[in-house]
Amino acid sequence: MTDCLFCKIINGEIPSQKVYEDDKIYAFNDIDPQAPVHFLVIPKEHISSALELSDANAGIVAHIFATVAKLAREMGFADGGYRVVNNCGADGGQTVGHLHFHVLAGRNIGWPPG
Ligand code: AMP
Ligand code: ZN
Repeated sequence: MTDCLFCKIINGEIPSQKVYEDDKIYAFNDIDPQAPVHFLVIPKEHISSALELSDANAGIVAHIFATVAKLAREMGFADGGYRVVNNCGADGGQTVGHLHFHVLAGRNIGWPPG
């Protein structure tokens, strides 16, 4: 999508700090980190939010979670644990309209959310 911030990050129009990339997904450091480890994982296909997931396209979510588990081991936060967050819609706190999963680690993240 031409007017989407994260599509522009995927195609290199806007710079980012890459954490991981394959043919289906891209991961990069959040510009405003909320934990010692805070990166975002996004599908290369433009999907506006989790509300747009269906059986036809939800396979990408399994791939994202499996990749995050692999990165947790490789990057050294598997033992400490981590949180994967998806914000959906206005009340969910979503500010960028391209499906993304926050990965937070390196401190106790706390619960419940604010
Ligand atoms: P959300 O509020 O769940 O929609 O999350 C959007 C996230 O994108 C926020 O944590 C922002 O800090 C992050 N963000 C916004 N612009 C950029 C950017 N250019 N590079 C990296 N992260 C960004
Ligand atoms: Zn997009």
